[in-house]
Amino acid sequence: MSAGSPTAPFRVVHTVCSHDCPDSCAVLVTVNDEGRAVKVQGDPSQPVTQGFLCGKVAKYLDRVYAPDRILYPLKRKAGIAKGPLVRGREHEAFERVSWDEALDSIAARLKETAERFGPESILPYSYAGTIGVLGYGSMDRRFFHRLGASQLDRTICAEAGGVAWNLVYGKKLSTPTEDFRLAKLVLAWGANIHGNNIHLWPMIEQARRNGARLIVIDPYRTRTAALADWHIAIRPGTDAALALGLMHVILDEGLEDRAFIAEMTHGIDELAARAQEYTPERVAAWTGLTAAEIEQLAREYATTRPAAIRMNYGVQRSENGGTAARAIAMLPALTGAWKHRGGGGQLSTSGAFPWNKKSVERPDLALASPLGRLARTVNMSQLGMALKQGTGTREQGSENAETRPESGSGVHALFVYNSNPAAVAPNQNAVRRGMERTDLFTVVHELFFTDTTDYADYILPATTFLEHTDIQGAYGHYFVQLSNQAIEPPGEARSNVWLFSQLAQRMGFEEDCFRDTPEQIIRQALGVGEDGHSTNAGMEHITFDDLKEQGHIPVSFHRTPEKEPFQPYTTGTLPTPSGKIEFYSETLAAAGLDPLPAFVPPVESRWGKGADRFPLEFLSRKADNYMNSTFANLDGHRKMEARTSQRLEMHTADAKARGIADGDPVRVWNDRGSLNLTALVNGSVPAGVVAARMDWAKMNPDGANVNALTSERLTDLGAAATFYSVLVEVAKT
Ligand code: SF4
Repeated sequence: MSAGSPTAPFRVVHTVCSHDCPDSCAVLVTVNDEGRAVKVQGDPSQPVTQGFLCGKVAKYLDRVYAPDRILYPLKRKAGIAKGPLVRGREHEAFERVSWDEALDSIAARLKETAERFGPESILPYSYAGTIGVLGYGSMDRRFFHRLGASQLDRTICAEAGGVAWNLVYGKKLSTPTEDFRLAKLVLAWGANIHGNNIHLWPMIEQARRNGARLIVIDPYRTRTAALADWHIAIRPGTDAALALGLMHVILDEGLEDRAFIAEMTHGIDELAARAQEYTPERVAAWTGLTAAEIEQLAREYATTRPAAIRMNYGVQRSENGGTAARAIAMLPALTGAWKHRGGGGQLSTSGAFPWNKKSVERPDLALASPLGRLARTVNMSQLGMALKQGTGTREQGSENAETRPESGSGVHALFVYNSNPAAVAPNQNAVRRGMERTDLFTVVHELFFTDTTDYADYILPATTFLEHTDIQGAYGHYFVQLSNQAIEPPGEARSNVWLFSQLAQRMGFEEDCFRDTPEQIIRQALGVGEDGHSTNAGMEHITFDDLKEQGHIPVSFHRTPEKEPFQPYTTGTLPTPSGKIEFYSETLAAAGLDPLPAFVPPVESRWGKGADRFPLEFLSRKADNYMNSTFANLDGHRKMEARTSQRLEMHTADAKARGIADGDPVRVWNDRGSLNLTALVNGSVPAGVVAARMDWAKMNPDGANVNALTSERLTDLGAAATFYSVLVEVAKT
């Protein structure tokens, strides 16, 4: 959708915010007759966006037109060592080169690396810097498959929760965001809705005006927790125990929905037997709550209708986080909450968008690579290990386990895009030691000089979502959306699709797919058939032209929500092995794992043996006004986060025990690293827990951030990162 004639002074272009956020807002960009974007605003016609943007993106033009944006390809100057560069003077380490020179040199080096060490010695590293279908994974995947480069196991954010949800329901669907306004109880579990899912907030406000209560379960007093009717400050990593304790009370008091359980679920007897072990008293000892609070929460949740759980991915970032997410996901099935419109739950809606990934990513190209097969997989949550030893593996709980080099090759080239691993990957010191290797060839496609570009041999200028075309679903609503290119990229910035298309041609890859245009790839993602309609399930009513015209179109089951509201998991056969909601998992049993949820205290927790030396549990939390590390370089965003910048939040008891007062300089450390921060004794964390928020390492005088303390140990399900299972000690300096 683009309003305004070509001669009008302004035109308005429909785009989609592609940052890693459930809301996937429809963004209207006003462009003047000189081709400059002059305004961004939320699209009022999109029912979830509702005409407003979050504080991060409302000032997006500060990012698009930032004076320090990288606008040209850069090459590291000879003799400049890789490692932290002084902020604001990074450009001194690089020289400008043409795109032709950069692409030719990169292609030559990748060829040489592949020939010398095997193509699997090349590791792409990307995540959700953009979540548009094309930007997240399309031409890049084709390129790396054809090359035979290692595949990246993209586990860093959501894999444990995703695996958990699918074990229970078979597909990631949720209560529609718009229906939360009908709830009488909203349980935000590890979900900072006000901070990073802001378009759910108006629904909750509306529900509260109609008498709903908001309960927040979170070890940290987030903005959302501060606004709740009841904030339950649970200890980190004990969510599975609480969920099982709630089941215990619900079943003990006969508050479960027997009819729903009989019709839609599998394994209630086994689950009931397991839940019997989790008495409120036992659960209280783990979680830090009282038995009475656990009983009250269980009764309130099970007897209020409709009751909706908004679980977010914070829950699953501890060692037992997969099981925690799985146990929480079972609660609405136990109480039959899915039956009541406005009740149920939400982790992700991404299962509603079955893009035609085979066409978009072309894994078949691996057969044409020198390997003649799909390449090995490297877990992105163990990048430090991969750069040291060759390859990360999917061994859960194996931080220090030997990895298994496959195909005889380590990692000799790293190609980073859509990510800032030197800031966001766990065990930062290990990652940086790896990236410092003089024999490692590193390319980074970026908008700004980041912690990661300090280690690059080449930096290539990337585009924002205003500057390229894409198609996008969401993990917090049910709309397919087209993001039209609103403006020309500044300088020589280029999109992911353009970059990998150009590189493929320089590598001599002759397949036609490397010349596909963005529009062709969008049509492939939609699986457009001969009649112009998508062939993807739930998208059959969508054509590319309609998307061009309308900007956003709901998936089929959400087209007439008032007449036919969508309530998942209430009828029919589900895509699980039993066809039902699974309390008991034969899949896990067959893999030799516990088929039922159980609470296993994290190794890195107050119950672990490391607590003798490192007695405090550390939360490496996310900023409200950044998107992981994105936006942290912008002054306006930094001002909004100033209160907790370089601060370590502590409980009074822990501060007092160490002779620390508010405002004192402190050192926080463990065997992996240390940080110098300033104490903030403010009641935001329970006793035994400290918290600091993610920032760029180069913003801290130590040149490190919270990930200097986090580990590469993996979650129990999904082999994901365990950012919230970390032990530390703190002392005044
Ligand atoms: S970051 Fe999220 S809330 Fe903010 S504009 Fe983007 S999609 Fe919307």
